[in-house]
Amino acid sequence: MTSSPWRIPLSRPQVDEEAVQEVASVLRSPILSIGPRLQAFEHAFARFIGSRYAIGVSSGTCGLHLAVKLLGLGPGAEAITTPFSFIASANCLLFENARPVFVDIDPDSFLLDLELVEEALTPRTRALLPVHVFGNVLDMARVMAIARLHGLAVIEDACEAVGAAWQGRRTGSWGDLGVFGFYPNKQMTTGEGGMVVTSREDFHLRLRGLRNQGRSLAGDGSFSELGYNYRMPEMAAALGAAQLKSLPAFLQERRRRERFYQQILSGLDELRVPPIPPERSPFVFIVQTREPALRDHLQAQLTERGIQSAVYFRPIHLEKFYRERFGYREGAFPRAEHAGQTCLAIPFYNQITEEEQRQVADAIRQGLAQWLNRSRAAVLSR
Ligand SMILES: *Cc1c(COP(=O)(O)O)cnc(C)c1O
Repeated sequence: MTSSPWRIPLSRPQVDEEAVQEVASVLRSPILSIGPRLQAFEHAFARFIGSRYAIGVSSGTCGLHLAVKLLGLGPGAEAITTPFSFIASANCLLFENARPVFVDIDPDSFLLDLELVEEALTPRTRALLPVHVFGNVLDMARVMAIARLHGLAVIEDACEAVGAAWQGRRTGSWGDLGVFGFYPNKQMTTGEGGMVVTSREDFHLRLRGLRNQGRSLAGDGSFSELGYNYRMPEMAAALGAAQLKSLPAFLQERRRRERFYQQILSGLDELRVPPIPPERSPFVFIVQTREPALRDHLQAQLTERGIQSAVYFRPIHLEKFYRERFGYREGAFPRAEHAGQTCLAIPFYNQITEEEQRQVADAIRQGLAQWLNRSRAAVLSR
């Protein structure tokens, strides 16, 4: 076991011996890329999601880029998306010089507020790019209804919600294209890797070309368009297939730990523990403070005790290059900004023990108590 600087890390992948053996057997074979493992992983993944096709790529970000490229979203095109997400879900539009048009979030679920989408549409809007942030699931029936009414394409960023479903249909399978990522902090991992799912055959064929230098599928060695090397290697695919098999068990483990946190962190006045909707896929565990300064205080307290935590997410529109390019300022999306200042992700992974969870909860309680004492002292000394 390699040592981590953290006593309790924020996340940790679970790679069982069977998965290790699968990857090892690839390494003992002569085929390390473009081989049977990728095909097998793609078939199994498509079946799991309920889409007709799955196309393995080298990261979730690459998958999003290909989706944007495939739809022809370029200069002059706009896509509606959320400012409260991992930055890749908006960057993918910038790769093709399309414009992300942000819409504020629902403060309870942290997801795009669908009430606000239609007023953000312009004649240049070509697509919706919803994100299932933290594993919480958007009302995809409503997203698709809005898209159909206005003739828009839908790229569903399901990178944080593998295994979730809306109305019994898996996330990722609702949109014209669904994208997944398998970085090691996700519910399942390939080290680096991603998957694009679609049920459209024309999309499927073009994606296979695009991820492989634009190579023509005719097999005559020609290149039919500008493409990329976004291929997933066989080692990653073998790991992915093994992880997919374990995913139902992984999600069960995570659900149990989520409920335990909810139980031991409940009843604290200063702390909101967001609800756990049954359809969600447990990606991260978030706690939310009322005041921004308290969030920062709690993070410092956790760090002092060797407990890793993270700010998810800094709102995308406030990053320097978004401000410079689009003129965004503080106050543009107040709910996303408030969430960015008050949410904290705490250690959460398949194998975190109850004892570790208790230590995290104790550190949070102590941090809160300190904070309250200090504010009381400040009031008294006035
Ligand atoms: C993880 C993630 C991605 C993809 O990330 P990669 O690290 O490129 O695989 C995209 N969007 C969201 C919302 C994510 O959380």
